Amino acid sequence: MLPSGFHMQDASDAEHVYFIGLLLFRLIIRSISSLAPLEAILFDIDGTLCDSDPLHFYAFREMLQEVGFNGGVPIDENFFIEKISGKHNDEIARILFPDWELQKGLKFTDDKEAYFRRLASEKLKPVKGLDKLRKWVEDHGFKRAAVTNAPRPNADLMVSSLGLSDFFESVVIGGECERAKPFPDPYLKGLQVLKASPSHTLVFEDSVSGIKAGVAAGMPVVALTTGNPEHLLMEAGASLIIKDFEDPKLWTALEELEGEAAKASVAN
Ligand SMILES: [Mg+2]
Repeated sequence: MLPSGFHMQDASDAEHVYFIGLLLFRLIIRSISSLAPLEAILFDIDGTLCDSDPLHFYAFREMLQEVGFNGGVPIDENFFIEKISGKHNDEIARILFPDWELQKGLKFTDDKEAYFRRLASEKLKPVKGLDKLRKWVEDHGFKRAAVTNAPRPNADLMVSSLGLSDFFESVVIGGECERAKPFPDPYLKGLQVLKASPSHTLVFEDSVSGIKAGVAAGMPVVALTTGNPEHLLMEAGASLIIKDFEDPKLWTALEELEGEAAKASVAN
């Protein structure tokens, strides 16, 4: 929980307050085994099912340079992580072009999405271990939906490119809800369409904005380090941080969850 090699006696008062705050925050984060018996899983798409962020980054970098953003100096990955990754296009347009009419900003993000889809149709790859997790979910018969801030044409393209069109019962789009992530609305809608309880539903995410949305909707979130540093995912409230779906930490947690569910069914 504390950085390795960190000793409390080395910390200043401000650091003490920060780390005690972080410890308390970790205590109120829901554990995955508390979900037993698991009923449903909600998956973000970009960066969670597929490593699409490098394609988004590439598309934004090229197109922002074309419009002379930042004096024509290409954006770097840190800028992308801070200002763009996981956010809805309305928010991105406002952040990137505060002086533009919103419509002009949205035209830019629409064009960027079309460019992204051309890239994705050729280059999109599933996150490692996705097949294994998919089989586990299918074998257990859990309900499942995708919940994304991506526009619907992107979401449909990614889900079908990954061969998951029949896997998901529903694809919830942030922009079609009253408020997109980081608000809980898209995840609440996911629960509603699956008729699932947040007490028995797990979320997979990769962005700060997405983790906040899942936590705000009352669910524990497993976060992938596909595109964001671990400390940001932790601060956003992730219950477990994994590299990909082959990570042994994930399978240990899922086995624990199955163990809890077995105990509960024996007790009843
Ligand atoms: Mg994502």
